[in-house]
Amino acid sequence: MKIAERISNLGTETAFAVSGEARAFAAAGNTVYPFHLGDMNIRTPDNIINAAHQAMLAGKTGYAPNAGIPELREALAEDVNRARGSSYTAANVAIQPGGKPVIGKFIQAVMNPGDEVLYPNPGYPIYESQIEYYGGRAVPYGYVPGDENFRLDFDALEKSVTTKTRLLIFNDLQNPTGAESSREELEAVARFAVKHDLKVLCDEAYFDIRYGGESVSLSSFPGMEERCVILYTFSKKFAMTGWRLGAAIGPVDIIDVIARINLNDESCSNHFIQVAAVEALKGDQSGPRKILEVLKERRDLGVDILNSIPGISCYRPNASFYLYPDVTELMEKKGFDNYETFRKDVLHKTGVSFCTRLHFGRALPGEERKYIRLAYSGIDADLIRKGLGLLK
Ligand code: PLP
Repeated sequence: MKIAERISNLGTETAFAVSGEARAFAAAGNTVYPFHLGDMNIRTPDNIINAAHQAMLAGKTGYAPNAGIPELREALAEDVNRARGSSYTAANVAIQPGGKPVIGKFIQAVMNPGDEVLYPNPGYPIYESQIEYYGGRAVPYGYVPGDENFRLDFDALEKSVTTKTRLLIFNDLQNPTGAESSREELEAVARFAVKHDLKVLCDEAYFDIRYGGESVSLSSFPGMEERCVILYTFSKKFAMTGWRLGAAIGPVDIIDVIARINLNDESCSNHFIQVAAVEALKGDQSGPRKILEVLKERRDLGVDILNSIPGISCYRPNASFYLYPDVTELMEKKGFDNYETFRKDVLHKTGVSFCTRLHFGRALPGEERKYIRLAYSGIDADLIRKGLGLLK
């Protein structure tokens, strides 16, 4: 069948292809150490599972309102306000089947063809895919090595603005680097967005995955609440990746458009899962606390092992569940220049499966160091120990 021309602009998330490759390698009888995907092998807390079960038995198995059930919209607005000092109400919240759908819906709602959109590279690959699919021009800005972690390259961001720039996509507590900006840096980004009158997608998928201190939202700075849509997800904090539940939170006019797109695309998000999500927000919080403890232990183990391997150096990010080590010398030592040959060689020789820098966008001009991304959300401590030990 002839495929429509616009599909040539639709990208993909190549981490899922790596996942398929690793599955095939395991199916052939090999041990795989799965560091490739930001999925989780930690079970959703029992109180949330029980709430979904009870909701199903109580008949919450039909369609829900297209922007979400009022109890969840309200609970989420309250939760977000508590953590971000904002003043959202239920009307500012449109429940979605996951956080990912917020990206394309935000872009459809506010971007016109030909608009330029600033997006992070290295970054979540769906941004570039969706910008280009809907006819925008994707303009990357970088994250660069800093003293203790990667940091946003603010100079590059400022230099990338033109008279056609309309949108900024911002993902602090960043995938893949784990970078987070200081309050001062966030303030500068907020001033920049106001100065250039940009609409902003605040992808806060990892807002609650932090190991000490408090996350600060870009949306909380002056002039931001009216131009910002927050991408919220239940996936990571509550280990609910496969349940598919998230939300777009922002100005009512944009949220209404996003909910109308929902009505066209999927009618609504799953009803009994929304009831369970109210329990996630308002019920016992020992589950998410435990999840963070497990993740922190894995992070420390992973960073310590990586830094003990000659040719690898790795920051200790305070947030997200990714490590983004510099493997330039290791690749050189093993005689590799090409990311894909290196990745496949490691997978086939050791079973260690990871993504490389190129799964998060094209390398930027002047970028010389080589990086890989290791997700520790889906692999237990003993396998982290064994797997990373094989990278030597
Ligand atoms: N944004 C970022 C930066 C992510 O890394 C992810 C998932 O890995 C998402 C959004 C979407 O997550 P979900 O659709 O599971 O909510």
